[in-house]
Amino acid sequence: MSSALCFRRLVSSPLKKLHLHHRNLLHPFSSSTTNTTKTTTTTNENNKPSHQQPLPPPIQVSLTESAGRGVFATRRIGVGDLIHTAKPLLSHPTYSSLYNVCYFCLKKLSNKTQTIQFCSNECKQQAKEFYSVEERVDWSAYDEHCRKQGLKYPLLVKRLACMVASGAASAECLDILQPARLSTEMILEMENEFSLLKSCLMKVDFKDEEIAFLTKQWYIGVLARIRINSFRVELAGGLYEDLFLSAVASVEAEASVGNAVYMLPSFYNHDCDPNIHIIWIENVNAKLKALRDIEQGEELRICYIDASMDQSARQTILFEGFGFRCSCMRCVSGD
Ligand SMILES: [Zn+2]
Ligand SMILES: [Zn+2]
Repeated sequence: MSSALCFRRLVSSPLKKLHLHHRNLLHPFSSSTTNTTKTTTTTNENNKPSHQQPLPPPIQVSLTESAGRGVFATRRIGVGDLIHTAKPLLSHPTYSSLYNVCYFCLKKLSNKTQTIQFCSNECKQQAKEFYSVEERVDWSAYDEHCRKQGLKYPLLVKRLACMVASGAASAECLDILQPARLSTEMILEMENEFSLLKSCLMKVDFKDEEIAFLTKQWYIGVLARIRINSFRVELAGGLYEDLFLSAVASVEAEASVGNAVYMLPSFYNHDCDPNIHIIWIENVNAKLKALRDIEQGEELRICYIDASMDQSARQTILFEGFGFRCSCMRCVSGD
């Protein structure tokens, strides 16, 4: 297998996101982004190692020629370099891994039970606010509906609703992301889900101001953004350093453990022959890595779909799922 094909297969699964005209260009290196690009260790007078402040990631968000938004390299980036990592704005395990992974960070658990678990006190603490709201509500009607219909995105909306009701997140925190275009049929389905979610919450004695955000418009707006901005999280397993050499099979073999929405990773445009990809090593924190050498000023792109599909299948999925026709070099060349 050629290395190019390996890379294509490696990037095959993140079912992803985004595009064009976002209303605000915010600060992409805000709280959702953890920089791990370069941490240099030096020795101070007392001969004790000290860590300098890490450098910012070598990227910037700018407008592209088509007037959409894109992410560009601010310096040369070498193949295999870790460009940055990103913590999610929002994440949730799949139903099938609900009891197998940490309810907050999606790390795999060795101790399997039939209850929600956290991998550490730190995760428990970070989940404390939304989880205290979630525990007050009987979700069975909503969960049963989603489980039967095989829906995964409403779980993310449910978590966001609990985060907002608890004060852990703002009701507008996803507004910067591009929403999907919705058909009448999709909207009707979402209205139905919204009624179920609201009726679950209304059975609990919340203060009016705690759930004032919960309108049909809010639900649909959030879900429309989650639809094209969420990533399917598949843990690679194994040592990070080994990934480029040996982990292709393990990346492909692992099933999805959950879904997550990020800020900065949502700004990357799509390419069927991408120069970077996203991987998850042990938990939901995403790592963006270079698949080849990238020059300063070059746009960084990920692949939203399974890149091993043929051109017409890719075009169909990108148009139906993400609402655009791909005109990347690979598509233009007919590959
Ligand atoms: Zn955890
Ligand atoms: Zn393409």
